[in-house]
Amino acid sequence: MKPYKNKINRIRSFALALIFIGFVVMYFGIFFKKHPIVMTLFMLLGLLCIIASTGVYFWIGMLSTKAVQVVCPNCGKPTKVLGRVDMCMHCREPLTLDPNLEGEEFDESYNRRTTAREGK
Ligand SMILES: [Zn+2]
Repeated sequence: MKPYKNKINRIRSFALALIFIGFVVMYFGIFFKKHPIVMTLFMLLGLLCIIASTGVYFWIGMLSTKAVQVVCPNCGKPTKVLGRVDMCMHCREPLTLDPNLEGEEFDESYNRRTTAREGK
């Protein structure tokens, strides 16, 4: 399997992981019932993770509006492309919006190079 993942899917799994971590941290707080301050700290930390995750979900929503919807030439399903190069959500086919990069080896660094140039 290719090591790359569609960006939106990747952020979505990150948000899901944050919720999970939040609950685990809150769960650990239960072990410190005798130390209310420590318990409160764990609860707050867990809550922060969950709040952060909602923030990430909101961010995905913002990104989705910016992403370009295309039909994957490989599997024929509609997918969203974020940035210059991205993977198909369904078959992980590398997709590009830049005709100069068409047919070239998929490389995530294309995205970084673009952002670096824009930063100047
Ligand atoms: Zn596809």
